[in-house]
Amino acid sequence: MPRFSPYIVSIALLAILTVLPAGSSISQVRDRWKLDCIVIDPGHGGKDPGTIGVTGVKEKHIVLKIALKLGALIEEHLPGIKVVYTRKDDRFIELYKRGKIANEAKGKLFVSIHCNSLEQKPSKTHGFEVYLLRPGRTDEAIRIAEVENSVVRLEEDYEERYKELDEEAFILINMAQSAYAKHSEKFAALLSRRAELSPKMKNLGVKQAGFYVLVGASMPAVLVESGFLSNTKEEKFLSSDLGQSHIAYLLYYGIKDFVKYYEEHLNE
Ligand SMILES: [Zn+2]
Repeated sequence: MPRFSPYIVSIALLAILTVLPAGSSISQVRDRWKLDCIVIDPGHGGKDPGTIGVTGVKEKHIVLKIALKLGALIEEHLPGIKVVYTRKDDRFIELYKRGKIANEAKGKLFVSIHCNSLEQKPSKTHGFEVYLLRPGRTDEAIRIAEVENSVVRLEEDYEERYKELDEEAFILINMAQSAYAKHSEKFAALLSRRAELSPKMKNLGVKQAGFYVLVGASMPAVLVESGFLSNTKEEKFLSSDLGQSHIAYLLYYGIKDFVKYYEEHLNE
């Protein structure tokens, strides 16, 4: 065994001591960004029923059931990822609080679950959509954002809390969210791909709209419209245990795809 002078040994020790904290801080940084918490946000609840289906089914009940099924799938199959819900029962949660809950839990991914509806019931339109937070590009996107945002009127002091999402507001939000925008887009694309593979749901693609609920979450965030309660067949499907499980699995596989993508890129 070679002998080292005390001088060499002390230099080596010094080097190791200098390198170690740097090395551990890289892993600390990696730990901080690790996808270890997913926030599931079942839309509406309590005094806010959400949209009402052809036969009177309420959106708030359907999205809660999908959310709980999705959470159970993540807990069962993705160990190491904590699931946080913005609500686990039929209660009213203000939109701004949903983002707050997500941030306080240090969530790394935010999924807001909803069901769509058209004013004319029944109507033929059906399918699954994923929304990103951006100024709505089409009249339909603006309409959906208005419907989902209208709940703030049930909140106290809502006018002070929510400023209109005009272009200027979006520039500020985009600056705050730019770090997450790419991941939100990737996540939306992966969810949409899963909808494309689904034999039961028509994929209506990824769209953009100004949803208040996505504004407050400091993490990649999307909103899904699981299907149309204004469509007789889709209302029946989404009201059934089978249909709710189908949507939960679709979301779960999209999340699983994203976790895989995220972890591969985290190590780069
Ligand atoms: Zn909704």
